[in-house]
Amino acid sequence: MKLTVVGCASGMPSANLAHSCYLIEQSGHSYMFDCGGGATSALRRLAVDTSSISDIFISHAHPDHVSGIFMFLQMEYLKARTKNLIIHVPAEFGLPFEEMLKAFYLFPQKLGYDLEVSVIEDGSDFDDSLLQVRAIENSHLKGHNEFLRSHNYPNRMQCFSFVVTTGDGKLVYSADIGELDDLKDIMSDADLLITEGIHIDLGWLPSLLIKKDVKRCLLTHLPDDFDRVSAKAQFAKLGYTKLEYASEGLTLQID
Ligand SMILES: [Zn+2]
Ligand SMILES: [Zn+2]
Repeated sequence: MKLTVVGCASGMPSANLAHSCYLIEQSGHSYMFDCGGGATSALRRLAVDTSSISDIFISHAHPDHVSGIFMFLQMEYLKARTKNLIIHVPAEFGLPFEEMLKAFYLFPQKLGYDLEVSVIEDGSDFDDSLLQVRAIENSHLKGHNEFLRSHNYPNRMQCFSFVVTTGDGKLVYSADIGELDDLKDIMSDADLLITEGIHIDLGWLPSLLIKKDVKRCLLTHLPDDFDRVSAKAQFAKLGYTKLEYASEGLTLQID
């Protein structure tokens, strides 16, 4: 399988980068993971053939991971897409998302292609015989129970990491996480771990990568002014030399 980084900005908008969006291609089929703000412009810059995307997986409903989806649907409509599209969203976001589609005048009956919204729960499995995706709920949005209760908000605060496997290998896209513990059970023997660098203590990551035998680690979701050179040197000092940084258009072959 082949990964293309479409968007990798941190939560703060960047002058030059789109927010979270990753494309995986396998045997002529494409799958997208997250679709943050600016993703459609980046897809255009990278000349991605979006008509081959069959499924989009959304990790959580923070705008830097989902706000680009509406422009994506508008783009596909304007490009006269005909291929079916399934958008997999956290279960708590299913109905709100369908309401938002109508509020944005993206009426499914008018798009010209079949759009299905599928909901993800912890442990949900996707398998189209080319690619398998398992969604694992993580702790990124946890810890707000008192706030939610006191304001009567119905949110379940769901955020998912994705374990992607094919006959070629194993890729883990952690999306946003809450702590390193979120990675421990899903990263073992990964050919590639895509993880974020702003919600975790990076100091403990190198030893975990070594212990879990992660072949390559792609660090993403970093602020523009993050000191990439120093961090890479620190990882190497601690014995992990397979650290790379996400950038728009970066492609990695996993096999
Ligand atoms: Zn984020
Ligand atoms: Zn987030």
